Amino acid sequence: ATPTAVMVATGKGASQGVLIKGGNALEKAHKVVNTVVFDKTGTLTIGKPKVVSAILFSRISVEEFYNTTIAVEANSEHPIAKALVEHAKKRIPNHKTQTNNGSTVKDFEVHPGAGVGCKVGPKTVLVGSKRLMRSFNIPINLEVENYFTDNENLARTCVLVAIDGQIAGAVAVTDPVKPEASRVVSYLQSMNIKTVMVTGDNRSTATAIATEIGIEIENVFAETDPLGKVDRIKEFQANGMIVAMVGDGINDSPALVAANIGMAIGAGTDVAIEAADVVLVKSSLEDVITAIDLSKKTINRIH
Ligand code: ADP
Ligand code: MG
Repeated sequence: ATPTAVMVATGKGASQGVLIKGGNALEKAHKVVNTVVFDKTGTLTIGKPKVVSAILFSRISVEEFYNTTIAVEANSEHPIAKALVEHAKKRIPNHKTQTNNGSTVKDFEVHPGAGVGCKVGPKTVLVGSKRLMRSFNIPINLEVENYFTDNENLARTCVLVAIDGQIAGAVAVTDPVKPEASRVVSYLQSMNIKTVMVTGDNRSTATAIATEIGIEIENVFAETDPLGKVDRIKEFQANGMIVAMVGDGINDSPALVAANIGMAIGAGTDVAIEAADVVLVKSSLEDVITAIDLSKKTINRIH
């Protein structure tokens, strides 16, 4: 009966936009999911951030600031990078792509869940979170802190640009939550399923978004890098929880593998889709419920 049950569920899922990758995925669940861990950016939020504010903290020109930002972020696939490049290009229509005053970009590096860095000509540039700046011992003054507080309380994410060890400026982006997010979260909660957020983003922004959606503050884990997300899932599992992880990014892939069921957002990165057991083809969070229902039905048939 096992293969039949799985086939029925797989076919049903496909017709509803839930792609189950091999029978294994549903069987792997064994028990019914009682915890759903959501990534934030691109999973609970639309994932297309827009720049809403920018500020310079050092004596550089607007043109140099944006040229440098473009030079670095043009190499990144991160949605924040795309937002920054788009905004910067509008500010300086004659920008020099990939170059800064004729100098080239070298040693581009990704710091997962924190930001990016490279050499732009002779200058060392970092773009990313406050945590990234701290890890490079870049001083953050009160003016910068205040800019963060003001914007993060509005659920915006701030990103810093450091040039040669000094904060040059900051940019704030907003990324609205998906329209179905709070409905799905409250439905899961009504089924006694614990809802959790794990994110690489900072605590204030994460808390503001969670509150908007209805995820309890004690279930919000911010400033979590890709392996931290795995640790969190393993901790839940060690406490007997059966965990579904929903994510879209490269940074979610290890967690998607670690979870009892990994669910990738269809519009997410290829790496996440490959790592997942289930693909939510329509990229709608409603289908998290569809997938859990399907696995429940399959388990009932199997046992
Ligand atoms: P999430 O887990 O919510 O999807 P990420 O782990 O992708 O978030 O990123 C966490 C944080 O790292 C972002 O909020 C941002 O501050 C910073 N970050 C990561 N990549 C970049 C980048 N390319 N440019 C600027 N900031 C970045
Ligand atoms: Mg994401």
